[in-house]
Amino acid sequence: MTAAPDQEKTGLGNYFIANYPPFSFWKSDFLPDAHAALNRPPVPGTPLGLYLHIPFCRKRCKFCYFRVYTDKNAKDVSVYLDALLKEVELLAQTPCVGGRPLDFVYFGGGTPSYLSADQLRGLMTRLKEIMPWDQTREVAFECEPGTLQKHKLEALKEVGVTRLSLGVENFKPEILQYNGRAHLEDEVYRAYGWAREVGFDQINIDLIAGMVGEDWANWRECVAKTIKLDPECVTVYQMELPYNTRFSKSLQMHDADEPPPGSIADWPTKRAWVQYAFDEFVKAGYEVTSATTVMKDPKKTHFVYREALWTGADMFGTGVASFGHVNGVHVQNVDTWEAYIDKLDRGEIPLGRAFPTSERDRLIRELVLQLKTGHLERSYFTRKFGVDAVDEFRPAFDQLAADGWLTVTPAAVDTTPAGLLQIDRHLPVLFDPQYVGQRYT
Ligand code: SF4
Repeated sequence: MTAAPDQEKTGLGNYFIANYPPFSFWKSDFLPDAHAALNRPPVPGTPLGLYLHIPFCRKRCKFCYFRVYTDKNAKDVSVYLDALLKEVELLAQTPCVGGRPLDFVYFGGGTPSYLSADQLRGLMTRLKEIMPWDQTREVAFECEPGTLQKHKLEALKEVGVTRLSLGVENFKPEILQYNGRAHLEDEVYRAYGWAREVGFDQINIDLIAGMVGEDWANWRECVAKTIKLDPECVTVYQMELPYNTRFSKSLQMHDADEPPPGSIADWPTKRAWVQYAFDEFVKAGYEVTSATTVMKDPKKTHFVYREALWTGADMFGTGVASFGHVNGVHVQNVDTWEAYIDKLDRGEIPLGRAFPTSERDRLIRELVLQLKTGHLERSYFTRKFGVDAVDEFRPAFDQLAADGWLTVTPAAVDTTPAGLLQIDRHLPVLFDPQYVGQRYT
């Protein structure tokens, strides 16, 4: 099936599917459901994770739509970290913890590595007192290369970080600068070298295919430079143009200082870049483990955060505007600094909106998220949800198979290579009708 030409341009809006049902259906009216979920014991066997949002960055990238601040001083940071710890403390006392140890911890942002070594040590020490992570399978930490020093990496290793993710995105100085990235190419090599010296045994490098100014020659170099660094894992995103980014606003206003629409690669070009990257990584000994990731040794290297979330783990999402999921209810915190700090000052869990999922919502959620890995086991869904996932959505799977995006066998569903690269645009055929064609955020 050939996509219509307007689907092939990089238009405004979110393309990638990060959750289900879409966030635009989450409402403050459902907050009583969220509080009830926090006050129930957990479903036995459900792992529990903790996400911490560190919303500070040195500069705002022009394609970024996250809740981040570039103007906060040391006192603001300290106020925020106190609020974050207070939130974890409040959550740790809720019945839904049910004595569960943390299965995974994820520091995301923003830029967690924006914090100083002392701030990190202080934060981690207090966190571990509230919710110990000695039984945790993974402590993941996102870094911006230009914010790292060797002693900061030593502090991270010392407190138990197991997976370091470096937001490299591109190596070319002009592209980094034009897209508003704060780091320089040399800082990538320096940070990576220190991380190896300090002894991190799982390093991920993030790349973005299709940053403004990208071309084939530079993309090939980016891939070659990444392979030379030899990380355990590489994540390759395709550039989106969500609403409320500097690029998308200037496109709407045709700002002469910003890129004309033609300079942003279309989807077929970005897919070709990702396919090229995957082919090169495979030649270098990596395996493709999802629509966005390759891993050197998937038997040894795991990304627990993703694996657990995509198979229905609970997760406390802490920090301003963070997303979580507890006892069947999706939750998101209030999304302004003032409201977040204020609620915690008053000793309240700072929830802003929620969505109570049905059993069918959870089935579809896991189905679409697991398809993003390129493979799903039918027996998993029969065991967990009591239905055969393929039979339940037979017309959609038959159509996707007929169009060449996936194959169905009695045991599993596997995407084709072409299907995997554009899986997000096919997933809505599995959505219930009320959620199709809705703005995602
Ligand atoms: S570093 Fe990440 S979170 Fe910060 S502005 Fe850039 S894209 Fe956004």
